Amino acid sequence: MFRVGIGFDIHRLEKGKKLVIGGVEIPSEYGFKAHSDGDIFFHALTDALLGAVGYGDIGQLFPDTERKWENTPSRVFLEEANRIINEKGYSVLNIDGFIVIQRPKILPYREKIIQNTAEILNIEPERVFIKGKTYEKIGEVGEGKAAFAEVVVLLKKEVKNEND
Ligand SMILES: [Zn+2]
Repeated sequence: MFRVGIGFDIHRLEKGKKLVIGGVEIPSEYGFKAHSDGDIFFHALTDALLGAVGYGDIGQLFPDTERKWENTPSRVFLEEANRIINEKGYSVLNIDGFIVIQRPKILPYREKIIQNTAEILNIEPERVFIKGKTYEKIGEVGEGKAAFAEVVVLLKKEVKNEND
């Protein structure tokens, strides 16, 4: 039994903030303005996992109105989403995603982002793929004022009996 999930996340970029994507702190003048660390890739992926099993969304589970999530590393959200899908008997078959940011280039950090993701989800790195893209200087994303991520996940359930 298979289930597919899709996730999207966008955050504004501001001078002097940390740029954390896929759990990797990337050297940059600009970083995410967000309640947590603003990790667009982990947020999109968390939403994709939760969506695949029909379990609310990241904003419901970790409301940004709650102080306890302030400056939370986003791996915490991803770990919780993975626990939820595992509890329902699912595991990740594969992940494919886009990280869209005008600068800096994502390619040098791609392997590390894939490793982090695989490690948190307890899967082989071969099951995770991401593409870094620019926005061709179009609009606010193209001007470096924001960055976004889009992720698709496929989950597989180990079917133990017909009534599952
Ligand atoms: Zn977010």
